[in-house]
Amino acid sequence: MKKALFLLNFLITAVISFTNAQQIISPSSFLGYELGTQFTNHHKVVDYFSYISANSSNVILEKYGITNENRPLFISYISSEENIKNLEQIRQDNLKRTGILKGNTATKVGIVWLSYNVHGNEASSTEAAMETLYKLITENKDWLQNTVVIMDPCLNPDGRDRYVNWFQQVRNIPYTANPDALEHNEPWPGGRPNHYLFDLNRDWAWATQIETQQRIKIYNKWMPHIHVDFHEQFINNPYYFAPAAEPFHETITDWQREFQTEIGKNHARHFDKNGWRYFTKEAFDLLYPSYGDTYPTFMGAIGMTYEQAGHGKAGLGIITENNSELTLKDRIEHHTTTGLSTVEVATKNTSKMIEEFQKYFDNPKLEVKNYVLKGDASKITSLTRLLDKHEITYYTTKESSAKVYDYNSKSNKTIQLTKIDLVIPTNQPKGKMVKVLFEPETKITDSLTYDITAWSLPYAYGLQGFSTKNVLPVATTNLENQKNTFVENAYAYIHKWNVVTDAAFLSELLKNTINVRFSNADFSIEGTKYLKGSLVILKNDNEHLANFNDLIKNVSTNLNEKIVAVNSGFVSTGFDFGSSNYSLIKPKNIALLTGEKVSPYSFGEIWHFFETQLKYPVTVLNTSNMGRVNLNKYNVLILPEGFNADDKELKTITEYTKNGGTIIAIGTALDNFSNKKDFLLKTKKDSLSDNKKPNLIPFKQQERNYLNKIITGSIFKSTIDNTHPLAFGYDTFYYSLKLSGTSYKLFNEGINVGYFPENATNVSGFAGKEALKSVSNSLLFGVENKGKGQLIYMVDNPLFRSFWENGKLFFANAVFLN
Ligand SMILES: [Zn+2]
Repeated sequence: MKKALFLLNFLITAVISFTNAQQIISPSSFLGYELGTQFTNHHKVVDYFSYISANSSNVILEKYGITNENRPLFISYISSEENIKNLEQIRQDNLKRTGILKGNTATKVGIVWLSYNVHGNEASSTEAAMETLYKLITENKDWLQNTVVIMDPCLNPDGRDRYVNWFQQVRNIPYTANPDALEHNEPWPGGRPNHYLFDLNRDWAWATQIETQQRIKIYNKWMPHIHVDFHEQFINNPYYFAPAAEPFHETITDWQREFQTEIGKNHARHFDKNGWRYFTKEAFDLLYPSYGDTYPTFMGAIGMTYEQAGHGKAGLGIITENNSELTLKDRIEHHTTTGLSTVEVATKNTSKMIEEFQKYFDNPKLEVKNYVLKGDASKITSLTRLLDKHEITYYTTKESSAKVYDYNSKSNKTIQLTKIDLVIPTNQPKGKMVKVLFEPETKITDSLTYDITAWSLPYAYGLQGFSTKNVLPVATTNLENQKNTFVENAYAYIHKWNVVTDAAFLSELLKNTINVRFSNADFSIEGTKYLKGSLVILKNDNEHLANFNDLIKNVSTNLNEKIVAVNSGFVSTGFDFGSSNYSLIKPKNIALLTGEKVSPYSFGEIWHFFETQLKYPVTVLNTSNMGRVNLNKYNVLILPEGFNADDKELKTITEYTKNGGTIIAIGTALDNFSNKKDFLLKTKKDSLSDNKKPNLIPFKQQERNYLNKIITGSIFKSTIDNTHPLAFGYDTFYYSLKLSGTSYKLFNEGINVGYFPENATNVSGFAGKEALKSVSNSLLFGVENKGKGQLIYMVDNPLFRSFWENGKLFFANAVFLN
């Protein structure tokens, strides 16, 4: 079916190209409706770009990937005929400026990358992309002499088509501008996120989503001089463009500040002429490295966000606060104007822009020369996978001593380096990004930012972090060395348990009906020590499998997991394998709540975790359906953030735990149980609702005062009771990304598996003074037994944006080791 359609499109394109070879037609003529009078589905956007590239010698199309729902991701290169012929040379020359490639450059062409519609329901920008393409190759062809424009008309086609399809189904004909109407009120989960309900504009640096992974591959091949991320905001907001708001990350150079102001001034000129409202320097800061403006900025570009009024609320037209109508046509016109204006500024400043771009990569001056990471080999491996995605280089070093700054003790000391320590140099093309991702603390010039303020990767990956001002010698140790030895008729196989990929391995074993046990105590056998949580796979448990040995061999080889075969169940320390201290892990039937009552992001994070990381089946259950489902069929019920049960639902899930079910509640889902007589969970003083004193803070300062009461994402050290299975695989401490100012009292009767001790303080990131006080002696991970079942409370969401790698095993433990 797909193929047939493709062929049809191709034939239409071919016919048009035959009849109109010389004359390029506008999006309106091509689509058969005036642009802005309808939303255009992704496949038709692809058609228009394909048509242009087939008919214009100024445009080439390149497919760079595919979405979860099988929609194509593509970019187009727009430039003069000569540049298009010379594209590979231009690309290589640009990489030479960054130091990624070596050699002299022969060309001097600016590279402007325009990214549209990362948020699916901010749907005007993809329409504007078609118009911008058309205007670039018709009215503004002369700009293309010294510029290559790279356009990605839709970064998030799954989310955008979710919005567009819905809109087409429910709209009035003709459309209504009345904001009450259905067409202005998008249903859950909305078109903003991608298939797995991730916000792709929070994912650039973590690259957890396939759209991002495929995009940064091609982004890194080009490293543009300017990158624009087109967005939409609330319907009454004027247009926003650069310069951005404080805080700026300290690596941002004066030139990057100045040139975005230049670009903003040019937009202002066009907007002034038309009498359009706009604002700059407010609301959108440049700190968190995972946005479509900051990521390119830290990669040397002028990275900018442009925001038009509209998004999922605006439809084809909507009445705004000043009683005028904001139409899709207006939105397209504004985004087209800023897109073209950006290219206009680039073409007028090519030499200077290229020169300053090159200077950004002059990294030998960075004070810290290396970040050094120590820790478990598999944790180091998972970090190197992220570095590989960004083409950040790293190496291993020789055994020697080095003067370092130690993140943990926050002091300078001398440490002993080993062959398997990971060294990440800042003297490399991506050196500034290395600094942003690895520095222990982000310098914040202004705390008024509502995104997380800490992300330091050593903490996120559960590794010891150090920085050094010295250059360390390079050695070549192969970090991934997973040779398995198999013996026929082994008595048992053992596998360690300390990173989330171990849980993915377990998942694969369970799916193959292999019986697996986990050890409740440390043990040693045949000269090796294994920690609590280690998996023990006994031949005796698997006599139902004729091909047991082959299965084990295949699963461990396919997943590149190291297993150790042993010939006896008699241990040298700990308990023998026949002991009841090795618990059989039963396959789990898992239900995950979804629907209007839960946070789409939190639900999406869990869904994505099961399907793409654990690869273990999960039943997605709509809360509206809960009363009709026999929950007792499920071993585990997961309540994402935002879930707020009514009395009947609370009764149902309480009964469920009493009957033996395990509930995992995350973040704000804890509100269902806190301060209620049947449950142990109690909040500490809630700083946000503490209104006993009259509020005499001047109105103007209140937004800043509010900051005292919140934590939006900073790193705290917690104490872990790793004798409980929920914490198997962890040390006695854990760095948690704290995402809210709400804190809970420690249990008197339940189990405090993770908690913030007395005088707990933020090791990195911003925390409001008042919120900070209640973190001391508060709960992080708690278990409350209820009847035959249990409630597992996770105060900080360990799956947040899927980037806090070291938290994920807690979630796997909650699912499998209970
Ligand atoms: Zn947006």
